[in-house]
Amino acid sequence: MEGGSPPPDLESVGSRRSSLPLSGRTRKRKEFLQRFVDSEFLTANLEDWFASLSLTEKSTRRKRVFDEPFELVELQKFDYALEGISFQQLMRMPSPLYPSSSDSVEATAFLAVEDFLHASAKGLWEAFWSQNEPMPFSAASLYNENSKFYQAEKAIAKGKLGGLCATALMMNNPRHPHGKWDHILEVALLRPGLSSYPVDSDRELPPLILGESLFFALRVLIARSLSRLSFPQGSNCVYVLLLDSQYGGVVKVEGDMNRMEFDINDIYGSASDWIKNHAQVSVSSVDRIWNKLGNANWGDIGALQVLFATFQAIVQFAGTPKLSIEDLAADHSIRLRARRMERQLDMDDSQPNGDGLFRLQNRAVSPEIVEVQDDSIRVEVEESLKLEVGSVLWLEESNWQKGYQINAILNDGDLLYYDASPVDDPGKSFFLYVGSPPSQLEPAWVNMNLWYQVQRQTKVLSSMRQKGVSSKYLSALVSSGRIIHPGQCQRPSSGGNCNHPWCGTPILVTSPVGETVADMISSGRFGVDEAIRCCHDCLSAISAAASVGIRHGDIRPENVIFVNTGVRQPYFVLIGWGHAVLEERDRPAMNLHFSSTYALQEGKLCSASDAESLVYLLYFSSGGTSPNLDSVEGALEWRENAWSRRQIQQKLGDVSTVLKAFADYVDSLCGTPYPIDYEIWLRRLKRSMHVEDHGKEIDPSVHDGRTDRQTFTADLKSPGRGKLRP
Ligand SMILES: [Zn+2]
Repeated sequence: MEGGSPPPDLESVGSRRSSLPLSGRTRKRKEFLQRFVDSEFLTANLEDWFASLSLTEKSTRRKRVFDEPFELVELQKFDYALEGISFQQLMRMPSPLYPSSSDSVEATAFLAVEDFLHASAKGLWEAFWSQNEPMPFSAASLYNENSKFYQAEKAIAKGKLGGLCATALMMNNPRHPHGKWDHILEVALLRPGLSSYPVDSDRELPPLILGESLFFALRVLIARSLSRLSFPQGSNCVYVLLLDSQYGGVVKVEGDMNRMEFDINDIYGSASDWIKNHAQVSVSSVDRIWNKLGNANWGDIGALQVLFATFQAIVQFAGTPKLSIEDLAADHSIRLRARRMERQLDMDDSQPNGDGLFRLQNRAVSPEIVEVQDDSIRVEVEESLKLEVGSVLWLEESNWQKGYQINAILNDGDLLYYDASPVDDPGKSFFLYVGSPPSQLEPAWVNMNLWYQVQRQTKVLSSMRQKGVSSKYLSALVSSGRIIHPGQCQRPSSGGNCNHPWCGTPILVTSPVGETVADMISSGRFGVDEAIRCCHDCLSAISAAASVGIRHGDIRPENVIFVNTGVRQPYFVLIGWGHAVLEERDRPAMNLHFSSTYALQEGKLCSASDAESLVYLLYFSSGGTSPNLDSVEGALEWRENAWSRRQIQQKLGDVSTVLKAFADYVDSLCGTPYPIDYEIWLRRLKRSMHVEDHGKEIDPSVHDGRTDRQTFTADLKSPGRGKLRP
């Protein structure tokens, strides 16, 4: 890898060979290595140096004492190259959140580090070097009593756990089953407490940990300088990985061993002199590698740094890989293009006329040149895309055209959407979502969020309709299509857009409309009755969607509305389906207050996840104290504490016993694969609703036989139910 590997040091060995007879020189180094066994002595010898470095750092206002071993651009390219590679982790890192007995945690951690090194090296080997040849390396742990390497599993079985002090990735060599130091590609040190030196904390790693890293690096370098192995890409650079059960970083030590004195009478003095004067030490930031479930986040910067170090270490032993990082990274743009086409396809899929694919193909092969419009018109319309109350927007769906007049501008927390009425039927109201015009350059996050809100939601709602899900508690697709812009549309007959800035802007219209729970809470109109009904209606929506394998994934007060105009019996509807999970690869939205524990930990939903989010919604809506959450860790910790103290159940118990019982039930299911028994809970909630309603409301359907259909002519909302609750 360019820039990463130093020139071979074999030449320099040759050039200085004359200074001492080879045998004598080798003997001296061997003896030195045998006696160089105490990392604490080395650290003590380096204390002044560490202190002077941090003084220099302060006086020169450098950000870090040591340089970073890798450039961010290198890591980024490496990240692209790794996109198609899967790393197979078999052992989970034990979570510090759920400690059992400390011995078993430590043992599991050692096994997990070995597994991590193995999975990293194997994934890299197969992707860059060879699919067919077996990987010539393996991971083993060092037992400090005899400086031998063992598989951690065997060492632990023999009661050697307490003496394990490092893990190494090393060349397989059947003649040396307990490992040789010159066979080591890289060393990993499992040192709890790294999490307190994360990347943004400015805190440098303590001398003890750095000293130990330098000690192990130096031992490997000395052993290599005595080795008979050939190092095609040079051997004077060693990577030491620092890991704890969540975080990790890389220490890189590089230098010419021939510049070391090897003074047998002052072993630690000559070692520290070499480090001070002849070595280049670089230290990476400490970043997260494992999530709370103990799975490595392979794409995160913490794991990337460690993988990149491992990659460089393999290069030293195995030479230039068959496929370069550039080769593999080149596929990134192909994947990116495929992803974009997929998105485009998603968008076109949602067109009910079903010729999405056809049009996509046409679009891709027809780079037709369209007439350039007058620039002055262009600027004017671009500015006027902001919709105001009263403005009318025309929508083209298949061959229909329909106008909608904006009644109100609404906010889902991030983005605007609209309450609008069809021009030809002003008695009706719908929600209208407007996507970003393809021509407009929005900040990426706005673009992405708009895509979720409009195109993705259109796809989800159409999918529900195709699968025959119908429930009045779900929002329904009324129509979807593209905007009809003012002036003549010059788009080519084969599809695509003309150069009017609005051309191709996607629009989605859904029903029903209502006030969001967020608004009800802020105006104090979400009381006991509402909480129980909300729980029933949302659970019913969750159940209907789950029956066809769809999960909502973004339940929060902005995504639940209360429908109370034109209906006999007000009810709640779950809206905002853009982040719904249709298949395994879909990711739910991340929300520190409302996401389920599993979603925060895994980025996925389990079967109880939506119900768990619903419980948080009810808890916060019923006056549960809202914690100040600013990180996923903090959010998980809050959940852990709140559930274990039964804080959520208690709060909901103040509202109603059935909600308390429901929270208990959800708590028992969280994170398990067991399905929710929707029927039982819908029945119980319904019973509580009837108790609440009893005597307060006369069901008009009893008298006039009206069904629960939405009507816009009569508002039959019962006046008996107090909505204004402080
Ligand atoms: Zn156009």
